[in-house]
Amino acid sequence: MIEAKIAQRVLSDLPAVEALGDQVPYNCPDCGGVLWQMAEGKLLRYRCHTGHAFTSSVLLAEQTVKIEETLWVALRMFEERQNLLVTMSKNDNKETSLSISQRAKDAQVHIERIRAMLKATDKGSSASK
Ligand SMILES: [Zn+2]
Repeated sequence: MIEAKIAQRVLSDLPAVEALGDQVPYNCPDCGGVLWQMAEGKLLRYRCHTGHAFTSSVLLAEQTVKIEETLWVALRMFEERQNLLVTMSKNDNKETSLSISQRAKDAQVHIERIRAMLKATDKGSSASK
């Protein structure tokens, strides 16, 4: 019963949101749903069908947070991959260890790039405060 009511509310809410503005190709940082853009004078506002609402600057800040989180996850994954490849290169025979150590070097390149990006986003967010 509750699910039916929620589904009904969402369904009936959707045309109401669509009437307020244009759908844009960004996702709600809180629920991942589609966003609608509406202009209030010079102020741009975004809203998803569940009711999360953002100004453009808040949306931008939320996106930066999500990007940073993704970069940290990617950094950890590359570091784990590199550790595994280094361990593998010590145990395997010469021919395979050569390509494995090359892949470890490739991982290092990605690690450095991600660290540089994290440094850049850190500067960006502290400069805007
Ligand atoms: Zn939302």
